[in-house]
Amino acid sequence: MLDDLTHNTDVVIIGGGLAGLFCALKLAPRPVTVISAAPLGQGASTAWAQGGIAAAVAEGDSAESHAADTVAVGAGLVDETIALGLAREAGARIHDLLHYGVPFDRDLEGKLAVGREAAHSARRIVHVRGDMAGRAIMSALIETVRKTPSIRVVEGYAAEDLLTLDGAVTGLQFRRVGDATAKPVTIATRAVVLATGGIGHLYAVTTNPVEASGLGLAIAARAGAVIADPEFVQFHPTAIMVGRDPAPLATEALRGEGATLINDRGERFMPARHPLAELAPRDIVARGVFAEIEAGRGAFLDAREALGAHFAEKFPTVYTSCMAAGIDPAKQPIPVAPAAHYHMGGIAVDARGRTSLKGLWAGGEVSSTGAHGANRLASNSLLEAVVYAARIAEDIGGSPIAAPARLPATSMQDCAMPALEGKSLRAMMTSHLGVIRHGERLAEAVRAFAGIERDTANIALRNMATTALLVAASAWARRESRGAHYRIDYPSERATLAHRTMTTLVAAREIAASLSERAPSRIVEHAS
Ligand SMILES: Cc1cc2nc3c(=O)[nH]c(=O)nc-3n(C[C@H](O)[C@H](O)[C@H](O)COP(=O)(O)OP(=O)(O)OC[C@H]3O[C@@H](n4cnc5c(N)ncnc54)[C@H](O)[C@@H]3O)c2cc1C
Repeated sequence: MLDDLTHNTDVVIIGGGLAGLFCALKLAPRPVTVISAAPLGQGASTAWAQGGIAAAVAEGDSAESHAADTVAVGAGLVDETIALGLAREAGARIHDLLHYGVPFDRDLEGKLAVGREAAHSARRIVHVRGDMAGRAIMSALIETVRKTPSIRVVEGYAAEDLLTLDGAVTGLQFRRVGDATAKPVTIATRAVVLATGGIGHLYAVTTNPVEASGLGLAIAARAGAVIADPEFVQFHPTAIMVGRDPAPLATEALRGEGATLINDRGERFMPARHPLAELAPRDIVARGVFAEIEAGRGAFLDAREALGAHFAEKFPTVYTSCMAAGIDPAKQPIPVAPAAHYHMGGIAVDARGRTSLKGLWAGGEVSSTGAHGANRLASNSLLEAVVYAARIAEDIGGSPIAAPARLPATSMQDCAMPALEGKSLRAMMTSHLGVIRHGERLAEAVRAFAGIERDTANIALRNMATTALLVAASAWARRESRGAHYRIDYPSERATLAHRTMTTLVAAREIAASLSERAPSRIVEHAS
């Protein structure tokens, strides 16, 4: 399979989740190669999605209302034109998914059934058998991809470096996963679509699979791509705390169905924090849950009254996760905590999915389109993945792509991940870049990640540190609290900072260098 890659590498898609597979299908019959670190169906956040896809398809709902909700949740940083475009294209992309065989739930009249989720002003989440959306979407797409002759799938290989010349992509380096002695493989290509998903697994407490360790973002940043809003990481308020890594998720839809959040005294704590109580924006709920845990009272999701005996039938995935840990959610409250869940930041792309590098497109969670701002609206990410995957396919379809040249392998040889260093990086992300942040701890993290990024000879660790550094440096530089980025030393939103972050790896390294020159105790941040 690998031998003939150099003969047919017109378009290479890195990532086999929703964004990657949808893009490959939309490009058909143009030949594409999809490279996925994990076998298709595994190692992709898409497969774990429980809620569904936001789409204003119900009577009485509108794209304008969906866009307005998106803008309201994004805390001043959502690009309104992008949000409206996303909402308007939702219906067409849902129809594409139906065409590819996704069995979305329907009501008695045969219309798409829609559910409600936090901060949506209407019922607009299309779903599959309650909480099975992700799994159903993936299995339908995988089956269609396997039957499409123009799509070649290379599984079990991870991209680790992008090769560029004069700001344009010329090739790609990747390597077999899980084989410490594997040699890097280099291929020449002029068109790469990065669809590698998020960064959640850079955190010790996360809902994301291990493949979501920010490698796609790192390789784009190292090649010089502009990165947008890396400091904005969404923490899901209700990861189920049963000692698993990654932590299983109790979907937001449970709160949509009336489940409440209580502490160990049985008291609801969200009504005092926000008029929408449990259905407030995620960042506010996450901080509420975090505060109860910090105060020693614990946090639990209580679905006994709202769902009771219907729990297993309505939320089979959550039910199975709870029962496996000895908790019967029909009868007992579920212990929960906030966990790194979704990255609003990513590789900056325009409305066609183009990055700042010629020949590089990015789609899905690895990208930052401007649709999410400082806080993503629930179920907008699967929507963004399909909308942009389709736009990228259309853009590539209309672009002449130059023939690739042959390239030598250039990158580091060492690839076996030093377990201890990976573990401590993840622990530092959770302790220093979590739900509550502070300038001094952010500076500490910037220095630590910059040191690893500079000194390690291990390419996997370096990629993790590159992304961690971008998140930390931008979090340090944003001296305010906005959306999911909450700084205890700057607890208010500041009107002068109501703009997106556009940064590069060079800029993040400069921040690290300036912080390293100062003694930690003398660090003073200047408000701008
Ligand atoms: C538990 C959970 C529940 C969620 N629920 C919802 C929901 O209900 N609605 C919603 O809208 N969003 C939800 N999200 C978010 C949403 O699932 C993701 O944002 C979305 O699936 C991302 O799709 P993607 O294609 O960009 O990435 P993914 O689906 O994560 O796919 C990434 C792919 O890239 C591969 N990969 C990664 N690195 C490399 C590399 N270096 N080389 C080669 N391949 C690589 C992976 O193996 C994988 O195939 C949820 C997320 C989680 C974790």
